[in-house]
Amino acid sequence: MSALPTTGREWHLTARPDGWPTPADFALREVPVSEPAEGRILVRNLFFSVDPYMRGRMNDVKSYTPPFQLDKPMDGGAVGEVIASNAEGFAVGDHVLHGLGWREYAHVPAKYATKVDPSAAPLSAYLGVLGMTGLTAYAGLFEVASFKEGDTVFVSGAAGAVGSQVGQMARIKGAARVIGSAGSDEKVRHLVDDLGFDAAFNYKNGPVTKQLREAAPDGIDVYFDNVGGEHLEAAITSFNVHGRATICGMISQYNSTEATPAPRNLALVIGKRLRLQGMLVGDHVALQPQFVEDVAGWIASGELTYQETVVEGVEQGVEAFLGLLRGENTGKMIVAVNQ
Ligand code: NDP
Repeated sequence: MSALPTTGREWHLTARPDGWPTPADFALREVPVSEPAEGRILVRNLFFSVDPYMRGRMNDVKSYTPPFQLDKPMDGGAVGEVIASNAEGFAVGDHVLHGLGWREYAHVPAKYATKVDPSAAPLSAYLGVLGMTGLTAYAGLFEVASFKEGDTVFVSGAAGAVGSQVGQMARIKGAARVIGSAGSDEKVRHLVDDLGFDAAFNYKNGPVTKQLREAAPDGIDVYFDNVGGEHLEAAITSFNVHGRATICGMISQYNSTEATPAPRNLALVIGKRLRLQGMLVGDHVALQPQFVEDVAGWIASGELTYQETVVEGVEQGVEAFLGLLRGENTGKMIVAVNQ
């Protein structure tokens, strides 16, 4: 045990952001690292996840996940290596997925740790394509939106972790047409050239309603919403009858200080008999085995690819999170630590 570190760094939320978060709302603090208590393992984190939902946890409001506490470590998905164990079933050298990210070393209750196999997939993949964001795409498309072969699918945030998987899964399962929107011309090219989208557009280049109508002249059947606002309004306009929307995220509003006006065309939901359904990935864990089997198979056959934007160093954690909100990632935004 003499090789254990005596201290490690972790990110604390120090002020609740009003609108866009800034680095001044966070502090990287050095804290003691002790041997794990009974039933716990000490994990040297190797990757942790930064995710849009964490912005909501910075507000002091009741939601489906509890708010981060001020001057306490933030948490979130992470993978790492067990360096000390005081829990049955876990040994030094095991690799685990757990919920105590945003730090270098984590004292994880063993019941909240899941062993992962680094020889089956790169460890970072358990935070993205084979993890929470991959399952969100899979469940949101197949279960919530009831996707079927021949559907025309539109996905916003299409170059991100969830969106890039949604578009590819729809293509693999026989979509008539897959359309994506993203925030740069480079991302748009990536969607069409690398991920096999049939059409894509940069939402910053003009009104979304107009660009979507041009990309989907025959309308859309499924909309996977990662963005909300103007994108949702455009999808409602372009929907065919019996269209289905998975309302997964509304990132265009996470830093808003005022209520957003769109969508202004909700009345169309009636005549078109649309279904707009919210989702939380946590409701769909029963799909996990099928999801992993399908996605691992698609990766192995080359049908599905995934991208990661990996930022190095625990001290870059907040910058990585802010970069995610600004759209600096392609695919899953991940922070590599202790490497
Ligand atoms: P992404 O990897 O997609 O990263 C976020 C992306 O959002 C950025 O890269 C940026 O890309 C885009 N973005 C930022 N601001 C705006 C804006 N104003 N308008 C349009 N796009 C914007 O993140 P995830 O894949 O992890 O998450 C995608 C969505 O899914 C989020 O809304 C998230 O909250 C939600 N989510 C919901 C879950 C659930 O259970 N309901 C689970 C997981 C995620 P660009 O350059 O294109 O602007």
